[in-house]
Amino acid sequence: MHRNVLNLTAYTVLGSNESEHDYHIKTETAVPRMVCSNCRSREVVGYGRVEVLVHDLPMHGKRVGIYIDARRFKCKSCGKTFMEHLPEVNANRWMTERLVKWIGKRSMTNTFTGIAEEIGVTEGTIRNVFSDYVNELERTVRFETPKWMGIDEIHIIQKPRAVISNLYNNTAVNLLPNRNKKTIATYLSNLKDRDSVQYVAMDMWRPYREAVNEVIPDAKIVVDKFHVVRMANVAMESVRKSLRADLSPKQRRGLMHDRFVLLRRQSQLTDQESFNLDGWTKNYPLLGEAYRLKEEFFNIYQASSKQQAQMLYEQWLKSIPAELRGHYEPIITAWSNWQPFILEYFNHPITNAYTESLNSLIRVLNRLGRGYSFEALRAKILFSRGSHKIVQNRPKFERQLDDYDRSSMAMFSLSTSFQVKEEAKNYGVDIDKLVAMIERGEI
Ligand SMILES: [Zn+2]
Repeated sequence: MHRNVLNLTAYTVLGSNESEHDYHIKTETAVPRMVCSNCRSREVVGYGRVEVLVHDLPMHGKRVGIYIDARRFKCKSCGKTFMEHLPEVNANRWMTERLVKWIGKRSMTNTFTGIAEEIGVTEGTIRNVFSDYVNELERTVRFETPKWMGIDEIHIIQKPRAVISNLYNNTAVNLLPNRNKKTIATYLSNLKDRDSVQYVAMDMWRPYREAVNEVIPDAKIVVDKFHVVRMANVAMESVRKSLRADLSPKQRRGLMHDRFVLLRRQSQLTDQESFNLDGWTKNYPLLGEAYRLKEEFFNIYQASSKQQAQMLYEQWLKSIPAELRGHYEPIITAWSNWQPFILEYFNHPITNAYTESLNSLIRVLNRLGRGYSFEALRAKILFSRGSHKIVQNRPKFERQLDDYDRSSMAMFSLSTSFQVKEEAKNYGVDIDKLVAMIERGEI
């Protein structure tokens, strides 16, 4: 085998053999560094050899093991014995540095087990290398702290996780392994300039609220409108289902068929749908009442102030017929527990505009996610560079020059244009872009 086959200039290839799956390559350092690792003295003498196995990049589809015939030395100054320094080897992993880098990148697109087989190491080793790689990315890729933050739930790999988003820029900035208070609080505490967070939009999940109150007490909490109004649809469904028992099988099928009409806003119904809806509500007044309650609950969000919204809510509450009250208990409880935060929306109408995008993300991840750990999927979502929303600050405004000025100033503008180089800001992951990249198989 050619002595440069490894393309590692610090090593001389002494010999090699190959089997069906592997290359075994025997080497030694080309120029040993003869310095005591303990006291830096150069007064050292040979003290035998030791063979060290180091894994390297796969070659021609085969796994590569480099057997370094490493020298041992004894120091004449301090008396310690030691092994020579092995350049380009990651001594924590017994891998070449280039293999460590390769595994990190490859973990973004392949499963740990797949990579472990390619290299000939355990899955645990791949997991550790990957975790170092992700820590390095966390240090180098920094997203801007959202001024308007969203906290949402996303269900991936069997568990609900918290997605942190930037509502102003419509991007995701983090994905946390769970929705516990401690997890959220730790995330918030580690944010650079966390006091710049002005608003946090969330669903009605108490640990989010407690974490925000504790760590960034000046940030205003706003319950996401979507999570409030959808409770009216849930109540509508609950009423519809409770009426089923009184219906003939034919009517039951009809109501099942028209259930989407009941969930649609009145203003969006076609003539045919309006006609169907009238049929149901005339024959079943309670269904009509439930439809009215749903519509009026949605209409609370047309209020122009929080006082007006609270007034509309109280009118709505009084108008619930006693027979239907049970179906609306969840809304009544939520309103009483979250009232100031629900009403905060009317001061700051912020909401998460990318719920649909998150749903497509969940869909593609569930297809792609088999075999990945949460950490690997998280890294894929957050650190696939092509999906980042990066904004280069515009250079200073410059007065436009006329032709005469232009020729005399040419040298000057050329030199200034090189000086105006401002730092780019990274606002996080554009979810739609990310979904498209996953669908094209790019990540
Ligand atoms: Zn020494």
